[in-house]
Amino acid sequence: MRGMQIHFLGGATTVTGSQFLITTERAKVLVDCGMFQGSPNESIRNRIPFAFEPAELDAVVLTHAHLDHCGLLPLLVKSGYNGPIHATAGTAELATLVLLDSGHLHEEFAKREARWERRNPDRAAAEDKEEIAAYQAAVDLAAAGGSEEAVAETADAPKLGVEAATAVAESMTAEAASPDTGEHVETTIEPEPPHAWPSDPEADLRTQPPAIDIDLDEPLYTVLDARQALEHLRPIDYDQEREVAPGVWATFLDAGHILGSAIIRLRIREQDGGQELVVVCSGDLGRPGTPIIRDPTYLTAADYVLVESTYGGREHEPQDEAIRVLAETIRLVADAGGVLLVPSFAIGRTQEVVWELDRLIDRGEIPPLPLYLDSPMASKASDVYRHHSEYFDAETAQLLRDGDTPLDYPGQIITNDVRDSKAIEHAPRPYMIVASNGMLTGGRVVGHLRHLIDDPNATILFVGYQGEGTLGAHLQAGARTVRLDGQPREVRCKVRSISGFSAHADESELLDWLGRFVAGKHPGDPGYPRRVFLVHGDPEAQIALEPKVRALGLATHIPHWHERVTLE
Ligand SMILES: [Zn+2]
Repeated sequence: MRGMQIHFLGGATTVTGSQFLITTERAKVLVDCGMFQGSPNESIRNRIPFAFEPAELDAVVLTHAHLDHCGLLPLLVKSGYNGPIHATAGTAELATLVLLDSGHLHEEFAKREARWERRNPDRAAAEDKEEIAAYQAAVDLAAAGGSEEAVAETADAPKLGVEAATAVAESMTAEAASPDTGEHVETTIEPEPPHAWPSDPEADLRTQPPAIDIDLDEPLYTVLDARQALEHLRPIDYDQEREVAPGVWATFLDAGHILGSAIIRLRIREQDGGQELVVVCSGDLGRPGTPIIRDPTYLTAADYVLVESTYGGREHEPQDEAIRVLAETIRLVADAGGVLLVPSFAIGRTQEVVWELDRLIDRGEIPPLPLYLDSPMASKASDVYRHHSEYFDAETAQLLRDGDTPLDYPGQIITNDVRDSKAIEHAPRPYMIVASNGMLTGGRVVGHLRHLIDDPNATILFVGYQGEGTLGAHLQAGARTVRLDGQPREVRCKVRSISGFSAHADESELLDWLGRFVAGKHPGDPGYPRRVFLVHGDPEAQIALEPKVRALGLATHIPHWHERVTLE
């Protein structure tokens, strides 16, 4: 080991699986421990053993409660980690919902897949073979990802046997599927478009033909594993510095992304009295002006910055335009006596959409259509939001003081039961449904899509990012046929998108946030970042963003998966 290092173990040239290991001579701190989601070739990475010995880790610091940032914590604890997981109180409460649900879903998937395998032994055997191959490809990619050191370290890591390797997890979000949906949902039919980095092994992995039907012999982790991980959560207030490991002090700052979300600033000293480095991890960076929660914090000094890059190369439409399109879409659906389906992530986006709908009703801009909130997770998350009014921005705090209930839409119908969810299709039209998950990779929203996809009176309204290769991305791109439950289905419903509700900063906002680090400074000045690492972005976004970050006068690097970088 020489000096301080960062090991990029997830969220590297992809938007999921965030996991960054910071190592000094006397400390090991993990920033986030997220689940890989999206295509099966992404989620197979969840099965690869940790690139470090979990028991040797001093601390975990968690930026926020989305599954792609916290989803592997149960596995980390199950694999021997016994230390604290530092997070804001809001994140701790939301992570409790997310991880218990995730454990439950992994158990359900495992049971369902076991039943399916018994019924289809031949197909199961063939798929096992494919999965082993995909797993091995991911292991090889991880090994090839970094320096020679990284390869050596991976070689020392415990190898999974064939038996374990066949138990490959399907990607799932926190609310990925209710037991009645999502069985062998095929989400793509068109080949993936060519990637911008043809020589990138990571891109090669992702463009392999998707092995859609995946069998699960054992869950990635269980509810009990999740419960055990949750016992390690140690709430921390915003803006309070805490020594989380020998010579590593962490401060959590408002990130404006979802309730409790944080930018984490790490002050790191290799030895007592020695050189100090400041590493700022943006986590997922929100947008100024996002409803409900406060705006992201601007920082002005760091030695190294890890910045998310989800929306590199793209600008969101102005918030006003987003609200105008939302209102117009609802009015059209109302006039046509149709159905509006809004696929939405349960935490963050759903609360914002409900908040905006409540404002539109208050202002008389939309008719009061019934709203089905078809996500038990979303309704529990809304409860957590209500408990944490101390995190609200001035506007929402004022609404509360005025006696408004900004987190509730008048006449909303919360469906917790799967039967109630199924019954929605018989409800008198027009009506709206907000259901999880946001990228149509699973969950109750897929059940609604089955009934609505070929209905010209239905409108699907996307309000968030659609990951590469997901069904949501295909629909958004205008696909006229998609594969659902293994069957080709004609797309006859209307498809609209709003980007202005994103929980992520767009390119200008990312550059504005980064620009504060260099304002009024020259390279080499104290606090002038020596390098900015672009993380949490698909390759196209990162390639688009990088030259603009350089134009600010910042040195950049796009780390690939399992790359290890020494900080000097
Ligand atoms: Zn997030």
